[in-house]
Amino acid sequence: MVYHHKDSIRDVLEAYYKMNAPIGLVPTMGALHHGHLELIARSQAENAITIISIFVNPTQFDNAGDLEKYPRTLEQDVAMIKELAGNFIVFNPSPEHLYEDDVRSQSYDFGGIEKEMEGAHRTGHFDGVGTVLSLFFKALKPTNAYFGEKDFQQLQIVRKLVEIESLPVTIVGCPIVREESGLAMSSRNKRLNETELEEATLLHKTLLGATERFESHTIEELKKWAIHEFEKNPNIQLEYFEIAEADTLTSVSEKKKNTQYRVFLAAFVGPVRLIDNMALN
Ligand code: AMP
Repeated sequence: MVYHHKDSIRDVLEAYYKMNAPIGLVPTMGALHHGHLELIARSQAENAITIISIFVNPTQFDNAGDLEKYPRTLEQDVAMIKELAGNFIVFNPSPEHLYEDDVRSQSYDFGGIEKEMEGAHRTGHFDGVGTVLSLFFKALKPTNAYFGEKDFQQLQIVRKLVEIESLPVTIVGCPIVREESGLAMSSRNKRLNETELEEATLLHKTLLGATERFESHTIEELKKWAIHEFEKNPNIQLEYFEIAEADTLTSVSEKKKNTQYRVFLAAFVGPVRLIDNMALN
C-alpha cells in the first residue's frame, strides 16, 4: 500500500481514471495526527480511493535545521493508516524521484497573497508549496484534494495555484483540529516538552482573546494587547500577529463593513515555530 514511484502508483490509479471514479488526495509531511485524520476521513467519505502523500518537501523550507529536525515517522504513519477503514494508498517518493533530479522551486505569482505573513517570514516558502503540489496534481490527477485551515494562507495559495495552472482538481478546505487545551494539532508539537506544550496554549488563548475584543477594539489596540500577552512569557517569541481580510489575506489596520476578517499568528515556543489562525467575524 506504500508506493515510492509515480509509475507504480499510477498503475493502481489507472482503473479509477478509466471508471471516472473520484480520487482523493491528502498531501501531508507525515508524523500524522488527528488533524490529518480528519482530512483523510473527509476524503474517504467523498472518493472511491484516497491517496495520502507523505513527503517532507525540501523546497518549502528556508531553514536547513528546521528541515532536518522535521519529525519523520513513516512506519508509525503507515501503521496508523492501516488501522483506518477505507480504501487508502500512500505515496512516499524521494525528493530526487518526485522532482526528477532537479530539486528546485518554480517561482510563482499568486497575486500578492504569497507576500503576506508566512510568505514574508519564510523566504520562498510558497514557491516550494506551489511547486510540490503542482507536481503531485499532475502526476496523480486527483479529483479532490484536502487541506486544513490550520494553514489557511496555504489553502488560499493552493486555490490560486489550480486557477493559474487550470488544474482539474477541486480544493476542499477542512476546519482546524485542536487538542483539548486548544493548541492546534501539528506534527511540530512532537518536538515540544510538557512545559512547552502547556505554554504553547498561549497561541490559541490569544486568538480567542482577539475574537472577544474584535468588536470593541481597534486593530492597533488588538495588536498592542496581543504583543503584551506574549511579552509575559520569555520562552515564547511572537513572530507576527496580523489581522487580514479572509479572501485576500491583506493585513489591515482598519476595519471595513461587510468584510470577513481572520487573525493569524506565528510564534516560537522554545526552538519550535508554530502557527495558528481563527475567524474574527
Ligand atoms: P502538514 O503535514 O503539516 O504539512 O499538513 C498536511 C495537511 O494537514 C495540511 O493541509 C494542513 O493544513 C493539515 N493540517 C495540519 N494540522 C491540522 C490541524 N490541526 N487541523 C486541520 N488540518 C490540519
